[in-house]
Amino acid sequence: MSQHTLDHAAASEVFNRDEPRVDWHDETLWWVRQKRDRASKGIPEWEDLREAASRIKHHVLSNMDVLLETFERNAQNNGVTVHWAANAQEHNEIIHSLLAKKGIDRMIKSKSMLTEECHLNDFLRSKGIEVIDTDLGERIVQLRQEPPSHIVLPAIHLKKSDVGDTFHEHLGTEKGATDPQYLTEAARQHLRETFLTRRAALTGVNFAIAETGGFVVCTNEGNADMGAHLSEIHIASMGFEKIIPKAEHLGVFLRLLTRSATGQPVTAYSSHFHRPRPGQEMHIVIVDNGRSTQLGREDFRNSLKCIRCGACMNTCPVYRRSGGHSYHNAVAGPIGSILAPNLDMRKNADLPFASTLCGSCSNVCPVKIDIHDQLYKWRQVLAKEGYVGGMKKTSLQLAAKVLASPTLFKLSFNTARAALRMAPWAANNPLNAWSIHRELPDAPKESFRQWYEKNRK
Ligand code: SF4
Repeated sequence: MSQHTLDHAAASEVFNRDEPRVDWHDETLWWVRQKRDRASKGIPEWEDLREAASRIKHHVLSNMDVLLETFERNAQNNGVTVHWAANAQEHNEIIHSLLAKKGIDRMIKSKSMLTEECHLNDFLRSKGIEVIDTDLGERIVQLRQEPPSHIVLPAIHLKKSDVGDTFHEHLGTEKGATDPQYLTEAARQHLRETFLTRRAALTGVNFAIAETGGFVVCTNEGNADMGAHLSEIHIASMGFEKIIPKAEHLGVFLRLLTRSATGQPVTAYSSHFHRPRPGQEMHIVIVDNGRSTQLGREDFRNSLKCIRCGACMNTCPVYRRSGGHSYHNAVAGPIGSILAPNLDMRKNADLPFASTLCGSCSNVCPVKIDIHDQLYKWRQVLAKEGYVGGMKKTSLQLAAKVLASPTLFKLSFNTARAALRMAPWAANNPLNAWSIHRELPDAPKESFRQWYEKNRK
């Protein structure tokens, strides 16, 4: 556990220093959100699909133990080795031991937010093992030694010119090049050589099917398939909430996932893995890392329904204008803000406050997670547990007293209005963080209450 709470607002200031970047980040994610809207309107049964997905996941959360054991049994019957990891450390150690046993010191990895959550790359690097991320966005941020800023669009905070500079430095492309086709081709050549020379590949898991013991990995670049099919050993890392009961349920989730994420009808590659090919080893590492604690929190267990589409991030006005890195957590945005306090309440106590509670996240969520309600509930838990700063606590206690007493309410608002009329600069000045991007309107001569008392018939 951490000793102190991090500060989303302070971290956002770093991102906010570059105003044009904030504007296009905002606009780009809003454009993705609009693509999601068009795609969801394109199928009349959209709301039925959301309801079905939410109910299937509800069933999963209530039968997690049985479904996971069924999955393990069926996967083992298919020739897959199943490992269980209680936490990030165990996950990383299992993967390291699998590689060490075969004398492998270089591995490729397709997109897996779980490995970000477990800090796998850093762990393996400390053991002398090189990991190359093969998703294009992930590779870009890896070359820049940054974490992904979005769960679906890891490099969405970067411009073409940033990518050009990074590739010039690391891949030797022409200085100043910004043509996406040229840059993508350079990445393709670089990664192709990597695919052909690595003996181990790690993938994430989007859906694991208890009934068959198989699992599905969704990508748009085919990089998971390329790595898994060329490698001697395929390791899949899976948070235990990725389980679904039957293959027939897959259609519900596959139709929702990419429409919600990018507005596409389906990912370019939805790859089904069941068993290793002859001569290959296949391993699945099923990870808890705080998930069973979250499952036990009645108000927050629904957060485990998440299928990591990123729609709540694309729609969130705070995320769009503060950038993913300000959330200091592998999963950023609204969903990250309800998952992170479960992992470390003190460190992540700032995140549930990084929201306007407008509810847009809950409206777009394909599995109907009550995200903004959970953000609100986390605030209450954090206040009760003593993780809210003294200043905030005192001012809210004061506000509670004022709002509970009509006399105090009238007195304090009349005083504040008179003060603001005399000295408006007291509120509108650069020392007041609230007024940096807003202007308080002129205080009226009288309150609504006074006006009403005079004018009511
Ligand atoms: S919480 Fe819902 S909207 Fe957000 S990433 Fe998860 S599934 Fe998508």
